[in-house]
Amino acid sequence: MSVMEMSHRGADYMQIHAQTKQHLRQLLNLSDDYEILFLQGGGHLQFAMLPLNLMQAGDTAGYITTGVWSEKGLEEAQKIAPQYGLNVIEIASSANSQCTDLPNLAELTIDPSLAYVHLCHNETINGVECTTLPNMNGVALVVDMSSNFLSQPMDVNQFGVIYACAQKNIGIAGLAVVIIRKDLLQRPHCAVPSMLDYAIHAAQDSMYNTPPTYAIYMAGLMFEWLIEQGGLAVIGERNAAKAKRLYDYIDGSGFYRNSIAVACRSRMNVPFTLLDAGLDVPFLAQAQAEGLTQLKGHRLLGGMRASIYNAMPMAGVEALIAFMQRFAKTFE
Ligand SMILES: *Cc1c(COP(=O)(O)O)cnc(C)c1O
Repeated sequence: MSVMEMSHRGADYMQIHAQTKQHLRQLLNLSDDYEILFLQGGGHLQFAMLPLNLMQAGDTAGYITTGVWSEKGLEEAQKIAPQYGLNVIEIASSANSQCTDLPNLAELTIDPSLAYVHLCHNETINGVECTTLPNMNGVALVVDMSSNFLSQPMDVNQFGVIYACAQKNIGIAGLAVVIIRKDLLQRPHCAVPSMLDYAIHAAQDSMYNTPPTYAIYMAGLMFEWLIEQGGLAVIGERNAAKAKRLYDYIDGSGFYRNSIAVACRSRMNVPFTLLDAGLDVPFLAQAQAEGLTQLKGHRLLGGMRASIYNAMPMAGVEALIAFMQRFAKTFE
């Protein structure tokens, strides 16, 4: 029987569910202060669940905007805030650099009266990744790690909530992983439908209704694979090496360009442009013909983007660079 045929209440699936959680705990060295939730609705539903679960009427949340995804998170929170008497404010932004740099997070002063602060840890479309965090002044830091979750070692204790949709760096679409500090589950919060209530999902071990069993099973296989590779330290070194190789080539090429400030270049998503944008179309067509797919940049930004998630081996990065070299040579 395939996992997709199993009852989620049956012993076989229950075992998969428990083991998947256990492996994630092991990878992150997660303490008992944190709960793991397996939810549906992707990253987008978290944009709405966060303010509804972490605030009650009169509370204020602070958002740091650093690119497309954090702006979406802010917009969604602001959209629902008035109905519940919540306040959602932007406390820092990198709009003045067109999101090619981060605000100086280490210098940011966080108002201790905020209910939480939201930050996107890796801006998938813009190619910007955080390497420092604000001094939180006791305020819970909530991070969107949809595109860099489990890509390097991290200290979970710095965060109140970590959330990630599965389809970037974990497994397949249909699952969002939420890691939440248990005290935040006790907070008085907005009256929401049960499916949007973290506390209800936590109390039911993410089985309040039928969970996305196959997506959870797939995530479990990835967690096992990561453990076999040697854990997050090993995968983190690999990811750093892959990214360095690609950025070094781009910077030295004189033909391609990445315009993100060096200190916050993403190790997962590498956007680049051709100095002559008129060559974008033939570049993508020839890359596609050689089996190098999904290089077109996001429609909001244009250009190219190489996503080099955990699953991409160094050989894939080398193949891309070899193609980029050949393509550039034909225009010398
Ligand atoms: C993809 C992505 C999302 C949205 O995920 P969905 O599952 O499509 O809703 C949110 N945040 C970041 C950083 C992402 O990369």
